[in-house]
Amino acid sequence: MRLILLGAPGAGKGTVAKRLTAIDGSVQISTGDILRAAVKAGTELGKKAEAAMKAGELVSDDLIMGIMGERLLEADCKNGFLLDGFPRTIPQAEALKGLLAKLGIELDFAVNLDVPRDVILDRLTTRRTCVECGAIYNVKSNPPKVEGKCDACGGAVVQRDDETEEAISKRLDVFNAQTSPLVDFYGKEGMLLNVNATSSDAVVEAIQGKLAS
Ligand code: ADP
Ligand code: ZN
Repeated sequence: MRLILLGAPGAGKGTVAKRLTAIDGSVQISTGDILRAAVKAGTELGKKAEAAMKAGELVSDDLIMGIMGERLLEADCKNGFLLDGFPRTIPQAEALKGLLAKLGIELDFAVNLDVPRDVILDRLTTRRTCVECGAIYNVKSNPPKVEGKCDACGGAVVQRDDETEEAISKRLDVFNAQTSPLVDFYGKEGMLLNVNATSSDAVVEAIQGKLAS
């Protein structure tokens, strides 16, 4: 499958992507994970992205398109991919369209994970992430078996730098202003699946249903 996962921070894009990759061997491509790894490794890319990320703002479209232009050429994309956190602006969506046309790759559709704002806020303040493998936990609904330690890899499970209340509120504003117009964009392209994403199980089912139809 080749899908775009759209939705506010905390809508469950990463969780849904991980379940879908387990089903058919497609890869999850998360620009957030790529950027966090670059920041952690202290690369040039990481240095350029760090300040914007910490403030809950977007990294420049040019930087992101540079990353994705290379990432989509990697061999593991042959089995399909799930774009998680990209595209995030109309210019990124336009550039992606051009890039895919050039590569001769066709997307199945874009999925809009729709979640009420109060649920989003609650999820983000209780979310914890493994610094090593990116696994996602929740202190209330899905804590790691040993507090602070990843079940999958033993890495430290922490609250992200951009999950302070201030940065969360900024990220939601940025999402509403810059990313939510993508729902209309893909609607007009005739390739949008809208799902109520209060339950990740329901999202996975809806996606599988549409892929099979
Ligand atoms: P979430 O979906 O939980 O907000 P991500 O892990 O997708 O978080 O992204 C974290 C941060 O990385 C964003 O707040 C932004 O600064 C940066 N980022 C990730 N993807 C993009 C993108 N496609 N365009 C611009 N900035 C991005
Ligand atoms: Zn881990």
